[in-house]
Amino acid sequence: MKKYILGLAVLSTVVMKAQTQIIAHRGFFQAQPPTTENSVKSLENAQKLKIYGSEFDVRMTKDGVLVINHDEHHGDMEISETSFKELEAVKLSNGEKFPTLKDYLKQGKKDPSLKLIVEIKPAKTPEIENEITQKTLKMIRDMKLENQTEYISFSLNICKQIKKLEPKFKVQYLNGELSPEQIKNEGLDGMDYHYSVFQKNPTWISEAKTLGLITNSWTVNDPAVYEELKKQGIGFVTTNIPDQLKNK
Ligand code: MG
Repeated sequence: MKKYILGLAVLSTVVMKAQTQIIAHRGFFQAQPPTTENSVKSLENAQKLKIYGSEFDVRMTKDGVLVINHDEHHGDMEISETSFKELEAVKLSNGEKFPTLKDYLKQGKKDPSLKLIVEIKPAKTPEIENEITQKTLKMIRDMKLENQTEYISFSLNICKQIKKLEPKFKVQYLNGELSPEQIKNEGLDGMDYHYSVFQKNPTWISEAKTLGLITNSWTVNDPAVYEELKKQGIGFVTTNIPDQLKNK
């Protein structure tokens, strides 16, 4: 009986731990010392935390180079309207060179235990979105990172394009307006929504889980919001404070 109870206690701890996993948002940049978001250094910091994954943003320069940056602009230059050579002339605020997707993936490959959560940013036309998606997936296949990557986007077109090209890749939609049933009907694997969407739709996490969908939320920087989502059984949270949430 004692063994049985002990077994149950161990099992429930494992299940509890498996419930909510942590993803660093744009790498772990609010570290000691702090660094720049979406820098290779921020990914290196995330690798040291032993968490589920690290998220980053992919964009394409005017001459077709895939780069890592959240905003449309790098310095005062619009990335999609500027050549890589011009962009590269401006360093990141931590002194690092402006990272390409290739630089980033090379660093990611050093630690196969950390999933790389690839966000492909919406572009000006569906044609450009499809080109960025196709090039991103090709690089990931060429570098044999298929099993270490998962995908997110605010663009439904990009999400569907990834599933069309690589049906086995896990794709979560970010924009928040589709219900779990609609996500399922679009053929996607999950929803990664702002936490306010789950607060407004308190049945969505359990509905999504029933449908076998991945549930994820951004950007959860308040431990109280984390607790609230965890209670609802959310699968993942994406956060700027992965070091603080990972032990909660
Ligand atoms: Mg992002």
